Amino acid sequence: MSEVAMNDVIEVDYEQPACATQHAWVRVPVEPGPQRRAELKDKIRRLLKERNAVMVSHYYVHPDLQDLAEETGGLVSDSLEMARFGRDHAATTLVVSGVRFMGETAKILSPDKTILMPELEAHCSLDLGCPIDAFSAFCDAHPDRTVVVYANTSAAVKARADWLVTSSCALEIVAALHAKGHKILWAPDKHLGDYIQRQTGADMVMWQGSCIVHDEFKATELQALMHDHPQAKVLVHPESPADVIALADAVGSTSAILKAAREMDAREFIVATDNGMMHKLRMLNPGKTFIEAPTAGNSATCKSCAHCPWMAMNGLEAVAQVLEQGLNAIHVDPATAARARLPIDRMLAFTAALKGGNDAGALVPNIGAA
Ligand code: SF4
Repeated sequence: MSEVAMNDVIEVDYEQPACATQHAWVRVPVEPGPQRRAELKDKIRRLLKERNAVMVSHYYVHPDLQDLAEETGGLVSDSLEMARFGRDHAATTLVVSGVRFMGETAKILSPDKTILMPELEAHCSLDLGCPIDAFSAFCDAHPDRTVVVYANTSAAVKARADWLVTSSCALEIVAALHAKGHKILWAPDKHLGDYIQRQTGADMVMWQGSCIVHDEFKATELQALMHDHPQAKVLVHPESPADVIALADAVGSTSAILKAAREMDAREFIVATDNGMMHKLRMLNPGKTFIEAPTAGNSATCKSCAHCPWMAMNGLEAVAQVLEQGLNAIHVDPATAARARLPIDRMLAFTAALKGGNDAGALVPNIGAA
């Protein structure tokens, strides 16, 4: 971390009441029996048609919600693709299985659509750890910096940002900003911010939030596991601590991890991200073995054990109920949504240019330009 960053960190206390994970764990739904499970799936299929709705599920939610989304013409993906898919799909209702900021992002991009979520209390430690008042004060203290925030933030925090990023495009966007002379104010994930700072050399001041899942991966125990599986390749999400990232054969977003697992010449992988990913990894790579990176061991302080309690709150019963009764609709204040849309649209335009092989850097203004 740079000297500047060291002087400008904001520490986040994860034991604050709003971020205690036990409230989420007690609300994780009980697994339905086989008959109830089949009934619920049938009911959801029928309601999706009747309500002109589509399911958009994150890689970390229950496998049933992933499979059902794909089977019914919806999507399973990372937060960037979820946002893009929801915006472009013709359905008038989106059922977003994931955490709160994903529903809010969908509403910001599709204000005329109804956005339903199985669980409105499904939060994210990054979002909870970056309240708007403290974040605004941080921005006010650094008026010369371009504000780059991660997707895992509230609509109000996004509305203070110049650019939004997800883990699948953060490196490219910060590199483009750095190349045009921008100094960065980064929030909220400290590990991803540090990783990007090391990769790009950008001048970044950091908010010091973290993901309660990825923060728990342990380098010492990972080394022991690697010793037991010498042929295994190690895939790491960049929200993990630097000493875990340093052991990786590939570092990247959930989509990048899927791509690496498909393309790398190995039969065995150790994976440091939420274990909800294992469903898709195993489904797409029959014959390959995927092992969870350790969160336990002598240095463990585990609050999550490689699974996000807020993601785990999403279940079939709740999806059927919100669809049937129109419950849990997401609302975002229109003025906040309009301002928050600017950094999201910038990110989507940048990533579309990258994907199309165009000069995405041209979308970044030189510092001092209007
Ligand atoms: S896995 Fe981490 S980053 Fe993702 S929603 Fe849960 S707490 Fe937030």
